[in-house]
Formats: sequence, C-alpha cells, structure tokens
Amino acid sequence: MNYDKNNIFAKILRNETPCKKVYENDYVLSFYDVNPQKKIHILVIPKGEYIDLDDFNSKASEKEIIEFNKAITHIVKMLKISNQEDGYRVISNIGKNGGQEVFHFHYHIFGGEKIRKMVF
Ligand code: AMP
Repeated sequence: MNYDKNNIFAKILRNETPCKKVYENDYVLSFYDVNPQKKIHILVIPKGEYIDLDDFNSKASEKEIIEFNKAITHIVKMLKISNQEDGYRVISNIGKNGGQEVFHFHYHIFGGEKIRKMVF
C-alpha cells in the first residue's frame, strides 16, 4: 500500500480540513477525535507521511520517533490525564484486523474516565 496524500489527516495537516487542535510542534499534531469514544479522545499524528506504526518505525528518523513519543507524554500532562493524575490509554489500529480507517499513522489517547480492560 502506498501513502494516500488525500487521506483526511493529510488534509488536516495541509489546513484543508479543520480540526480542534490540542497541541502542535515541528513533528506532531494532536487534535480531538471527531467521534469521541471516551470523555477525552484525542489523536496524535506525525507530520511526516507514514501509513501506520510499522511504516513509521521502519522509515521515520530517530528524531521523529523520539519526538512523537515525547509528545504523547507532553500532551497527557497538558490534559492532566498522565499517571500522576488518573491515567489514560493509548492505542494504534493497524491494518484490516486492527480496524484502521485512516491510513496516516496515529495514536488514539483515551482518558477522563475509567476504561474497561478488554479490547473489543
Ligand atoms: P482508526 O480506526 O484508528 O483509523 O481511527 C480513525 C479515527 O479518526 C476515528 O476515531 C475517527 O473518528 C477519526 N476521524 C476521522 N475523521 C476525523 C476528522 N476530520 N477529525 C478528527 N477525527 C477524525
């Protein structure tokens, strides 16, 4: 699969589609999910063109990978859902069996309420 430059997150990155921004730096953009599944449901995406976690880990620079991961911790602290507060969950859907719908790599961050243990 090739990266589709017309996926919705690519359009958000190009400011062609609006988003409710949470955080942005040179490497990442974070915004609220349009269809929240928990009280807090945000997405974190790299600015580079990567299809999924495997593509990101294979092709991104170490700087991009480090900055992406650091951004997660920065954002959860900003939102006061880090483990110093009540905690959160981070997931990434990958491919067909993972239920991925948007093929620009992203993490979902869920918080603000208790999340059940099972994946479904
Ligand atoms: P995934 O199944 O991991 O690919 O999830 C894609 C997520 O993107 C879903 O939770 C959607 O609700 C969310 N989403 C799709 N379009 C938008 C948008 N324009 N702004 C914010 N979130 C979106």
